[in-house]
Amino acid sequence: MTNQTSSPKGRAKCSSCEAVCCRLTVVLQPEDRVPGHLTTYSPEGLHVMKHGQDGWCVALNSANMNCGIYETRPSVCRRFVMNGPYCKAVRADYYDSVTASARHTSAA
Ligand code: SF4
Ligand code: SF4
Repeated sequence: MTNQTSSPKGRAKCSSCEAVCCRLTVVLQPEDRVPGHLTTYSPEGLHVMKHGQDGWCVALNSANMNCGIYETRPSVCRRFVMNGPYCKAVRADYYDSVTASARHTSAA
């Protein structure tokens, strides 16, 4: 995960991705040990990782787009597979929205 812009096409690499998966809702499991100030509760009452105004998980180090709690990251994050179906889906959605937003801006 770096702050380089990566292509949404082809095989993704965490080392050249904008940590797009760290924009997803991460539901914490009983075995997770994440500092409380990085978590919150969803309107449905789920214990989740907190997100910042920018849409990314607050545990993400924005200077290098790496997880700031990598050694103790939640189990959901540990199971997330690079180039797996969820990785591909979240990247496709993210880059679609970025492209649509850029089109909207240039048309304004
Ligand atoms: S798992 Fe996929 S979406 Fe997450 S940082 Fe790696 S390449 Fe990007
Ligand atoms: S805990 Fe780390 S790996 Fe999980 S979403 Fe947050 S920044 Fe990403």
